[in-house]
Amino acid sequence: MSKVLQIDNLHVAIGGKEILKGVNLTIRQGEVHALMGPNGSGKSTLSYALMGHPNYEVTSGTVTLGGEDILALEADERAKAGLFLAFQYPTSIPGVTVANFLRHAVTNVRSPERKEGEELISMREFRKELREQMDELGMDPEFARRYLNEGFSGGEKKRAEVLQLAMLRPAFAILDETDSGLDIDAVRVVSEGVNRVAGKIGTGVLVITHYKRILDYIKPQFVHILFGGRVVESGGPELVDVLEREGYDWVRAKYPEAARDEDEMEQQQSAATGQLTF
Ligand code: ADP
Ligand code: MG
Repeated sequence: MSKVLQIDNLHVAIGGKEILKGVNLTIRQGEVHALMGPNGSGKSTLSYALMGHPNYEVTSGTVTLGGEDILALEADERAKAGLFLAFQYPTSIPGVTVANFLRHAVTNVRSPERKEGEELISMREFRKELREQMDELGMDPEFARRYLNEGFSGGEKKRAEVLQLAMLRPAFAILDETDSGLDIDAVRVVSEGVNRVAGKIGTGVLVITHYKRILDYIKPQFVHILFGGRVVESGGPELVDVLEREGYDWVRAKYPEAARDEDEMEQQQSAATGQLTF
């Protein structure tokens, strides 16, 4: 059955400061949406808030997945409900291999009732599936034996995120700047992985980016512009070309109130550089 991820009038604050000022978005399973916007417009804030990061306070609005209020859920429960977030800056977990991490994650998502310490998905079944997925992504099987993200290049980190996506088969996936710092081959691998889960598994995808490049490979049906903490424009792929050609000046002129908020956020962003460490 096809589910809907519905975001209504979402307001989010960090440390008491309002960043998102009423975001509306509707994503159906199998659809690919792109969310574009300048630096500091609140894109990562949206993805963290959706995933339930404790520093991001939802001050009003609702988010439902398949009709269920997910804001009431803890981060792990959101993952079990079918939400997946690929981070802009994935953290490394020394001592935990990619394979071990994935085996736990896959077990937890597929058996939501499982308690810590109970049996994991069978090694034989898991290995087979992992091998198939790594094969499709053109990954060296050795990669699974490395510690998660420890010493990974930018491209390897993103491949690891896409491998997670392929193994977890979530109802909805949010990819936050999965393309930044990637060479063109890595962009292609990541994009093919994303297209495959959207097409085969029916994952609803939200690709967050401020570059057109990845959208040449991941072809979104819907494109949204986040500006000053709200979605000011929604349209089709043609919006990507408009932004590429004309930048954000017309957005600024068309939405003066959002432009004022965007300027304020930009100042904070520059004052706060170097603090994005969690
Ligand atoms: P984007 O991902 O679109 O570049 P972000 O969501 O990262 O934007 O940031 C939006 C705004 O929130 C910026 O003004 C930024 O300075 C602020 N912000 C982000 N993270 C934090 C934080 N941890 N503490 C305080 N302010 C933050
Ligand atoms: Mg960001």
